[in-house]
Amino acid sequence: MKICFETVTRQAKFLDPTRGFEPRTVSTEIRRDPLTGEGGRILAFPSRPTPRPDLDALVKLSREIGCPFCPDVIDKVTPIFDPDLIPEGRLHVGEATVLPNLGPYDTYSGLTIITREHFVPMSGFSQAQLVDAFVAGQTYLQRVREKDPTAAYCSINWNYMPPAGSTMVHPHMQPFAGSGQSNRERLLLDSSARYLVENKSVFWLDLVEEEQRQGARFIAQEGSIAWLASFAPRSPKDVMAVFLDRSNLLDITGGEFQTFVDGLRRTMRYFDKLNLYSMNLTLFSAPADAEGFRVHARIVSRAPISPVMTSDRNYFPVLHGESLSTGRPEETAAGLRESWSCGA
Ligand SMILES: [Zn+2]
Repeated sequence: MKICFETVTRQAKFLDPTRGFEPRTVSTEIRRDPLTGEGGRILAFPSRPTPRPDLDALVKLSREIGCPFCPDVIDKVTPIFDPDLIPEGRLHVGEATVLPNLGPYDTYSGLTIITREHFVPMSGFSQAQLVDAFVAGQTYLQRVREKDPTAAYCSINWNYMPPAGSTMVHPHMQPFAGSGQSNRERLLLDSSARYLVENKSVFWLDLVEEEQRQGARFIAQEGSIAWLASFAPRSPKDVMAVFLDRSNLLDITGGEFQTFVDGLRRTMRYFDKLNLYSMNLTLFSAPADAEGFRVHARIVSRAPISPVMTSDRNYFPVLHGESLSTGRPEETAAGLRESWSCGA
């Protein structure tokens, strides 16, 4: 097993005005992603509890602007799929509706409207609403694969609420597929394949085993899904769910989505408890013939970090390409283990 958790600590010295200008040394932790080697910094920036936002005004404004995803207009103002791909026009699973994305990310770009309700708070989604949304997105991607086998790369994504990049408050996921990879898909797939050749084992299974052995970032295993706090976080709260038996998301069963959503809802309730009202989620997948990969979700909290709505992305991640976090993964895991053990 070759899982390596690499941390380098850098120290900065200054005279501290809060301590009568006494000399003070502050440490910054630089961690390397154990698969890709990408850096992530954990800052000693004093973290204050985030005030609970009043979302009423935001939700009211979004209704006044007009929402194309609300039930009274969705059939009239949203697009319909090319009949060659989806002859019935739109896909429906429970409350979920899949329709074409007006701003496509790739050749096949869908939107899964999750609920009939315009606004659902972080901890307000039912099990059925989320399971149906994932199944609906998977069904769309399966139909794409049947029609066009060259669209080998696919993912299901979710920008939940505006701080995470969503222009619409109405909850919706984004399944998309194409013949090429995103930067991170390429990095994940290439690094996983290289690890398999070098170690004769699957990185993702080794990672879960090693995290379980060390314990500090391991949260839980439910069925065939393991939950971890990411070693090199992309956000103050960065949670990973690894599907131990699946490399392609088109093969995930309804039962596995049930188990996954159970953990996702625990994670979202934990975010909500910390007043984190927005998040990004990606369910990464390998093509059918790829080896050494496992489907996994990355779920990261997103929220303004000051009363003047400062973005949680500054020059460092945007231009230097390195993540920043003020939260420690070990604290995230401890908080989530508590949620799991008390059945929250
Ligand atoms: Zn709406």
